[in-house]
Amino acid sequence: MKVSYESGASETIVLAAEELSVYLKRMIKELPETEWEIQLVSDESSFQADCNDSFRIRIGACGGCITGSNDRSVLLAVYDYLHYLGCRFLMPQKEYEIVPCIEKENLEVSYEKQASFFHRGVCIEGADSFENILGYIEWLPKVGFNSFFLQFKSPYAFMERWYRHLENPYVPAQDYTPMDAVRDMERLETEIKRRGMMLHKAGHGWTGEVLGYHTVSWNRETENDDEQFTHRMAMINGKRELFGGVPANTNLCYHNEDAIDAFVELVVDYAKKNPSMNYLHVWLADEYNNICECPECVQTTLSDQYVELLNEIDARMIEENLDTRIVFLLYQELLWPPVVQRLNHQERFVLMFAPISRTFEKSYELDGGETAIPVYVRNHVTLPTNLAENMAFLRQWQKIFEGGSFVYDYPLGRAHYGDFGYVHIAKVICSDIQKLDRMKLDGYISCQELRAAFPNALPNYMMAYTLFQKDVGEKEVIEEYFSACYGEDWEKALAYLTKLSDLNCCDYVNGKGERGSQEIAGRMEQVIQCCQEFEKEIDGHCGKDGMWDTFFWELLSYHRNYILLFADALRLLAEGEEEQAGQKWEAMREYICLNEQKYQPFFDVYRILEVTRKYTGLYKPQK
Ligand SMILES: [Zn+2]
Repeated sequence: MKVSYESGASETIVLAAEELSVYLKRMIKELPETEWEIQLVSDESSFQADCNDSFRIRIGACGGCITGSNDRSVLLAVYDYLHYLGCRFLMPQKEYEIVPCIEKENLEVSYEKQASFFHRGVCIEGADSFENILGYIEWLPKVGFNSFFLQFKSPYAFMERWYRHLENPYVPAQDYTPMDAVRDMERLETEIKRRGMMLHKAGHGWTGEVLGYHTVSWNRETENDDEQFTHRMAMINGKRELFGGVPANTNLCYHNEDAIDAFVELVVDYAKKNPSMNYLHVWLADEYNNICECPECVQTTLSDQYVELLNEIDARMIEENLDTRIVFLLYQELLWPPVVQRLNHQERFVLMFAPISRTFEKSYELDGGETAIPVYVRNHVTLPTNLAENMAFLRQWQKIFEGGSFVYDYPLGRAHYGDFGYVHIAKVICSDIQKLDRMKLDGYISCQELRAAFPNALPNYMMAYTLFQKDVGEKEVIEEYFSACYGEDWEKALAYLTKLSDLNCCDYVNGKGERGSQEIAGRMEQVIQCCQEFEKEIDGHCGKDGMWDTFFWELLSYHRNYILLFADALRLLAEGEEEQAGQKWEAMREYICLNEQKYQPFFDVYRILEVTRKYTGLYKPQK
């Protein structure tokens, strides 16, 4: 048996060949004889021009050919073929993949596929070790993703949270510096490029850099001796200062020429130094209602100033012969389209629609009719939770911009902690992706915790397969996933998690709605009951020797203990018993912190504790 490719093939094709050989050797006891050969070919010309990632698989009795529309598509094809043969890439952790034994006759098949969307990716959030990020990157093409986004100029913020164990008092902090993050980032980028994936970089942080701070996180600045750039800051209530002490959250006076020049030079310089980056994100501050009130800025809108800034960057990039694609962001104040300004060269730009304040109780609402966008009032903006209103903003922007675009969404950043079963959020993701065509958006980047597999990774799995084939079928994906994870009793596990999902409180955990709520309190009581009733079933999957039928049952057991504590804390909060809710939260914290190392890859302890304090309001330190 042989896997071959042309001499001089890229490292992506070489990796595809290695992977195919390794998996086939594991899967087939009796390998086909030597003349059996699979050729890997990257051939754009044999596919429709400008198509999304596409591939063709033709395997007969003597082997055959796997052809991709680009090198990355060859790698995607190899993994898709392995999936066809029965492999299941259930989570970013390689040890939980399913690799079946098959007969060599099963190798024969012919089919072709084209990805439904151009942009299919994930953006780093949460607290992550180097191994977490690397494992995630390795997993992405296995399930059909093609992009990864490292935020800021380095992913320091996310890695610092992990290595310093910021929310876990039981684990001693390790040192981790911005230089460590740069070193780790270089290795991660090598792995992204090795897979031919599209690399997105930067985003927030530019405003802090313009103010002279090395901005690779949302951390507060304590040193305040550098007054030389104060004039570049937004003036709010007559004062120019850091917003909450955080450079990444501070807006600039976008009328100030010195600030604009510095911004443009920083972006252009960064593009020059990062030739392997495919998409450069240029965003403003990560807070709202904090924009400049100086006499010049108030005569225009933030979006008009943003478009002017983007045009200046574009002009400088033309001078420098840089073809870097720039991603601009629609969220917060920037949801309101510019009044006067327009992008000069739309082909340079990609529109990123980020409905960060949306509800996750439901999927995108497209049938609500034409909703008007609210009147814009400087520094008195309320963000839209309503889906129809979010769509109305997008439509207004689409009237003036016709270039590439994708949605940047957050089902697995915060909201998922309110769906204990993960079935609800997986269905919302599936339904949202199926609506992207109608929204005139060509893809989806998920801004999310990378460790979001608790009780399992169905939401990410659903996202991946629906993005590649939007009509793949919600039910089929769920059945495939659950039967692979839980074995013959998978339907019981699904029924239990579906019940928990029906009792979800995604918006409540995310801080939306009144804290006192009989509805939520009632739901949490039912959640507790449901967990208690299923206890025996879960325990039945653990042998007398302490061995579990599959790891997913063990994870379900740990998950149940956590939900019992969490749901009780939420019940108390919803009943107005704040102090007792805080005590329950502390019990939950102790439980998950003490067990963190054991279940580290699946559950982001930093993030759940941050979300439940900051957004849910479960814990207020006693004065
Ligand atoms: Zn100003």
